Amino acid sequence: RDRAELESLQDAVDNFVAEDVQEFSELPLSSATLEGLKSAYYTKLTDIQSRALPLALKGKDVLGAARTGSGKTLAFLIPILEVLLRKKWGPNDGLGALVISPTRELAVQIFEVLRKIGHKHQFSAGLVIGGKSLKDEQERLSRMNILVATPGRLLQHMDQTLGFECDQLQMLVLDEADRILDMGFSASINAIVANLPKQRQTLLFSATQTKSVKDLARLSLKDPQYVAVREGI
Ligand code: ADP
Ligand code: MG
Repeated sequence: RDRAELESLQDAVDNFVAEDVQEFSELPLSSATLEGLKSAYYTKLTDIQSRALPLALKGKDVLGAARTGSGKTLAFLIPILEVLLRKKWGPNDGLGALVISPTRELAVQIFEVLRKIGHKHQFSAGLVIGGKSLKDEQERLSRMNILVATPGRLLQHMDQTLGFECDQLQMLVLDEADRILDMGFSASINAIVANLPKQRQTLLFSATQTKSVKDLARLSLKDPQYVAVREGI
């Protein structure tokens, strides 16, 4: 059943033409993700989701700008689940996706949304945000498929945690990139990105498009698709 679903899903993605997508059920998504979305009462896409999801699902790098509250979280969590599923990512494949968030609070929120919409999937997911014992995090880290992390703590693990490897990483997400930069994490992000495989998909989301966000995008994205949603109702 699973293999047949994955093959037809990949065909559906390849043949998908995004025309004014209104509902998640119109997107080429796995039944696991659709069930997760449904159980969380998500049915209609927001603007940034309907612009960014078709591109991200096809494997493009995306630079997305939209105000706070516009629904950027699902615009990157859904592609993570779908891309890893289509690549048949399993427990022994290691870290497949990494989400970097500026603060612990935002990382926890992202993780909660991931749990809400991802419960039908088999991936292991973890938080790397500091505030608790490094050792506890270290022990679980090598088994994680999806991580949501703050920059400082992530770098600490990259430097100090034996067995923490990112060399199979398929997808990097930089969320709230403007805030990451405002908080002075620019050098940390550069050091993190230097540790990641060049062959990967990268999604960068930001509430504002500043020059430093564009500089970061130039360094971390490949042939990015720009998606900006204007203010207003
Ligand atoms: P942003 O990251 O752009 O600030 P969030 O992803 O945190 O926005 O979403 C803001 C709020 O909108 C959250 O409460 C979220 O549950 C809700 N939301 C996001 N997408 C949808 C959707 N498609 N349908 C209904 N509510 C949504
Ligand atoms: Mg957000």
